[in-house]
Amino acid sequence: MTHILHRQIAGTLPVAATGSGIEIVDSTGKRYLDASGGAAVSCLGHGHPAVTAALHEQLDRLAYAHTGFFTTEVAEKLGDRLIADAPQGISHAYLVSGGSEAIEASLKMARQYFIERGEPKRRHVIARRQSYHGNTLGALAAGGNEWRRAPFSPLLIETHHIAPCFAYRFQEPGESEEEYGRRAADALEAKILELGEGTVMAFVAETVVGATAGAVPPAPGYFKRIREICNRHGVLLILDEVMCGMGRTGTLHACEQEGIAPDLMTIAKGLGGGYEPIGAVLLGRHIYESFANGSGFFQHGHTYMGHPMACAAGLAVQETIRRDNLLANVRTQGALLRRRLGERFGNHPYVGDIRGRGLFQAIELVEERSTKTPFDPAKKLHAKVKKAAMARGLMVYPMGGTIDGTRGDHVLLAPPFIVTEEQIGEIVDRLGSALDDALA
Ligand SMILES: *Cc1c(COP(=O)(O)O)cnc(C)c1O
Repeated sequence: MTHILHRQIAGTLPVAATGSGIEIVDSTGKRYLDASGGAAVSCLGHGHPAVTAALHEQLDRLAYAHTGFFTTEVAEKLGDRLIADAPQGISHAYLVSGGSEAIEASLKMARQYFIERGEPKRRHVIARRQSYHGNTLGALAAGGNEWRRAPFSPLLIETHHIAPCFAYRFQEPGESEEEYGRRAADALEAKILELGEGTVMAFVAETVVGATAGAVPPAPGYFKRIREICNRHGVLLILDEVMCGMGRTGTLHACEQEGIAPDLMTIAKGLGGGYEPIGAVLLGRHIYESFANGSGFFQHGHTYMGHPMACAAGLAVQETIRRDNLLANVRTQGALLRRRLGERFGNHPYVGDIRGRGLFQAIELVEERSTKTPFDPAKKLHAKVKKAAMARGLMVYPMGGTIDGTRGDHVLLAPPFIVTEEQIGEIVDRLGSALDDALA
């Protein structure tokens, strides 16, 4: 008997009781290796002493002060930390409580920027099919996952979608990676011209696609070309790094590896590592100045924005990653994870692709490797993999609809940045046996 409306009504969930390091322990004492950080959230694992100490200290000092009345030292420090490490041109942070809120705020910032600049005709948002930007209505409208959008489509704001950059599925035979990247990026220019010069305000994309397609990195040169197209047409580039950002791919921001900087960037999951709900929009100086020199404020706000407890968590997580040089471990263990996945699944008859960056890796499951034919979605293979993994005390993040929202299955791995070589081996062993069990 429960009074909670859980994500799934049928079935019962184990009760998470405690957690430490990369493990969660349920109320029966069963231990789970958290190889996905939940949904790529728990970047420092569970019960990290530096973070819990910072939270105790903030709680004893002050839990909440409304941002309409006060700023706080902890929020200012987090802002300083985020901007010190931000991509070029980014000058300010807008603190919210999660990824969807960050996306909503970034869309409104883009719109207000153009109003401040006297370009009110710019209103169109272009995003990509198979992307995920959150579940609130604006974020859902930006997202390109058909299954998630369908029931709510009459409520969604107008948005436009181009094809994703997804080499395993959409690169053509005989086309080089660079040629494919250019073709995929040029779809943005075609869409801007179709909608009409001077009417598009923003292009939204995940730098490395997360939950909906499974750790899909961009083709080489793709984002350089996207940046050029945005510049040429005066369109703002919003990078959604809610899942792939804050160190997950081996650099603090995934866009560093693309050699570009966005106008606006959303971050969330790894920002607070799950210790508190927190997200942020990082905005470029030009956007800040358009508000500062125009109406003098950003017409938005939430009750819990800049919450001191959330800021304390974000600050402690980010300081710990720096102090312990954990991005180096993300790169080392990420390379090891990739190697181990290759050894275990490289010749597996039902694994079509292994991909990702850093500690953000995925395998895509196929019924037939040579034709890349997916499994029948009615099999719900992804759900079987999750069940078999949980039975073995392993948390991974499998998802269906990889190709088009309906067809395809993948398993996403996003272990905490503190993961060890030995734990990587254990994760891949348990995943291999869970997969074979689910496929049997
Ligand atoms: C999870 C996610 C979101 C939404 O974040 P919430 O905190 O769940 O609202 C947005 N964008 C991406 C890329 C995500 O992975």
